[in-house]
Amino acid sequence: MTTRELKEKYFEFFKQNGHKAIPSASLIPENDPTVLFTTAGMHPLVPYLLGEKHPAGDKLVDVQKCIRTGDIDEVGDDWHLTFFEMLGNWGLGSYWKKEAIEMSWEFLTGKKWLGLNKKKISVSVFAGDSEIPKDEESAEIWELVGVPKDRIKFLGREDNFWGQAAGGPCGPCSEMFYDGIEIWNDVFMEYNKLDDGNYEPLKQKNVDTGMGVERTVAILNGKKSVFDVEPLKSIVKKVQELAKTKNTKAERIIADHLRAATFIMGDERGIAPSNVEQGYVLRRLIRRAIRYGKKLGIEKSFTYEIGKLVIDLMSDEYPELQKNKDFVIEQFIQEEEKFGKTLEKGLKEFEKGTDPFILFTTYGFPIEMTEELAREKGMKIDRRKFEEDFKKHQELSRTATAGKFKSGLADNSEQVTKLHTATHLLLAALRKVLGDHVYQKGSNITVERLRLDFSHKEKMTAEQIKKVEDAVNEVIVRDLPVNCNEVSLEKAKEIGAMGVFESKYGDKVKVYSVGMSDCPYSCEICAGPHITKTGQLGHFKIIKEEASSAGVRRIKAIIK
Ligand code: ATP
Ligand code: MG
Repeated sequence: MTTRELKEKYFEFFKQNGHKAIPSASLIPENDPTVLFTTAGMHPLVPYLLGEKHPAGDKLVDVQKCIRTGDIDEVGDDWHLTFFEMLGNWGLGSYWKKEAIEMSWEFLTGKKWLGLNKKKISVSVFAGDSEIPKDEESAEIWELVGVPKDRIKFLGREDNFWGQAAGGPCGPCSEMFYDGIEIWNDVFMEYNKLDDGNYEPLKQKNVDTGMGVERTVAILNGKKSVFDVEPLKSIVKKVQELAKTKNTKAERIIADHLRAATFIMGDERGIAPSNVEQGYVLRRLIRRAIRYGKKLGIEKSFTYEIGKLVIDLMSDEYPELQKNKDFVIEQFIQEEEKFGKTLEKGLKEFEKGTDPFILFTTYGFPIEMTEELAREKGMKIDRRKFEEDFKKHQELSRTATAGKFKSGLADNSEQVTKLHTATHLLLAALRKVLGDHVYQKGSNITVERLRLDFSHKEKMTAEQIKKVEDAVNEVIVRDLPVNCNEVSLEKAKEIGAMGVFESKYGDKVKVYSVGMSDCPYSCEICAGPHITKTGQLGHFKIIKEEASSAGVRRIKAIIK
């Protein structure tokens, strides 16, 4: 059975059981600054798990692209990938353990479906702990469908409880194994984990399941690894063709990382390599792949070739890859060139024991890569020192660029400062009028006008433009105070500030808010500067609304 056939069967089965198909969401979460990537199908559905109505109904089926950087050290073994596809069926308050387990069993073992050997299937259920009771109910249902008691294991929180670290919907889960390999997980979401660490029952009980596509296809074909089935098989083969020596682990790491990188850059909300956030993860993946390429004796530039192959193999199902092909290839070439220039030298410097921070700033070695090189040599890196150096460096560069480039601010004149504050008001107004999917995608201010790029698909109607103008002008007329607070990044997230969460190193950020401190009209992480009262702005007017790039609109506006 091919990957495609598995997905088709899954959708067919769950549609027959009353589910509606929904598309995969972006790999880059839209409304959640707490995580960098979508790590499971659950992610984009959190609002619906919390009780909001999904437009497609209360029984859904999907295949979600996922990135798990937490698994990066496992990649190279038979079953772990950083990018993988996850099939899921969802009961949003519509069915519960009995139906979920019965459907899982039918899909796994039914002759018309996967037809797996029942004797090789085992399951696990939650053993319970001081906070959450043992899941006897699921164990009983598994026995009823036909799994013998000795193949039902009770396991602890680490394996059989699901939720996001940051809290939110969660609950015990039940994993399914074939021949000892975990392929599917049914999560029974019945709790909401609160900020104080306590659990409250969810308003609706949800079923959230996740089946790994690559793993399942591998076991269906009697293979011993996800790299032995398409499309990864062809990607590994291509790496082998380029390589001079053989090293299974290196081949797999390259295939996995460059596939993941292709999907991150080729995403609907695709991004380029950088030194922050998702861009940094992307950079690490590409550079790590290049380093393993060197181990295999690959001398020439090769990442874009793998990227091309990934796009050829997978854009049937993920057309965004084809659409962003030029961007993806270009980024691979540029990143490889950048890294190539310093790699040899950097490796020599590393051998000499050069400081990890210098390796990072001068040679572009991600700290994780230096750590890995060190580990291979049985050495350890002082991560704390690196982070302190990094922080100092950031403060220095911040002072150097204060108020200049940080927010696309070209000039600190009075008018520019006003337009800068107006940009914050505009963004807040756009989110009010158009919805929470609106995020800043870019900003540029001259003395004459502001320009704001933001995520939104359709052209705005005249009525929407008017509403946004009115909203901004209303805030101006109310003459609200503009406050600035320096807080930790964590705090900024906590109070729901918008903006780019640029660093993970615990430094303070400036948060500008307009209006009451407990319920601000606008609240953004920003370097400033800003005016002090909105009344200083004058009259706000949008002079142009146009497309900027796919899914991004651009507004130009002035104040008079
Ligand atoms: P494992 O313990 O094997 O890492 P998990 O418990 O982390 O798996 P879940 O979070 O339950 O897995 O994810 C649901 C399904 O997604 C798994 O049953 C598996 O089929 C698949 N899956 C999870 N992590 C990976 C990965 N890194 N690569 C490929 N497939 C994965
Ligand atoms: Mg895992």
